[in-house]
Amino acid sequence: MSTLEEIKTSKKNLDKAIESNNNESTLQILQNLSQAKITLEILKSTKLGKSVGKLRKHSNSEIQKLSEGLVNAWKKLLDAGASTKKEDDSKKRRNDEEQSSPSTAKKTKKEEEKPKAEPKVVKQASRPTGGNTQIRDKTREMLESALAPTDQVTDTLSAPQVAMDIEHELYTMFNGNTEKDYKAKFRSLHFNLKNPKNPALRNSVMKGELTADNTQDMASEETKRERKEIEEWQQKAAQVSQGNRTSTNMFKCGKCGKRETTYFQLQTRSSDEPMTTFHECTNCGNRWKS
Ligand SMILES: [Zn+2]
Repeated sequence: MSTLEEIKTSKKNLDKAIESNNNESTLQILQNLSQAKITLEILKSTKLGKSVGKLRKHSNSEIQKLSEGLVNAWKKLLDAGASTKKEDDSKKRRNDEEQSSPSTAKKTKKEEEKPKAEPKVVKQASRPTGGNTQIRDKTREMLESALAPTDQVTDTLSAPQVAMDIEHELYTMFNGNTEKDYKAKFRSLHFNLKNPKNPALRNSVMKGELTADNTQDMASEETKRERKEIEEWQQKAAQVSQGNRTSTNMFKCGKCGKRETTYFQLQTRSSDEPMTTFHECTNCGNRWKS
């Protein structure tokens, strides 16, 4: 037996034999291995040395001896392989040095550096060009951080790409003028994208569903929704006279931190759901629901 597949099978059987403490089988396989023609390639691809190496500390002295012998033989194989390779390499280097004129040597060096520099080159190539690149870069960076990946959703687009697209849209929207209007639009966009109350906006942008222009509409939808909630609160509050409200120090105002509030409860949803509690801070007037 000498092919890679056969040795692979032997290795599997050896691992099994070791695991099940089958000394007889372990010995048999080790004996077979000592007869087999093991090459460096086989050793590397089967990682046979690892399994056999452990057996040098086996309680069975015969297994110990056999595995020791195998490992020593394979070590020589490895050492020989390593030194041949080293020799080859240094020979190759010498040849290169002798053969290459200064100009080709320079070229080789350049080519070696190329793969490393590649990502940077790509990024720079797609960076905004034209206008005030300093402002545009800053805009792009801030948009990118506002669009940074979240745990909640898996994005289909990449934040850097979307940030770049949005910035480009802003840039063309104001005909390449990156001053007042551009900055104002960016600021409101950035604010809305970072608004923790409106994660849907960021997610829609990252799905490519929204552009810089219609994010504004969606953001104002959110503002409308908030206003509606306050109005709802006021309507409900109007139904409940001051006398029906309970003063308490149980609740802490999120705005001023005082525990001077009144509250009342209403059934706002279906009857099997808990009541909604409407709070009002008597200190600062802050209102909230819970
Ligand atoms: Zn308050």
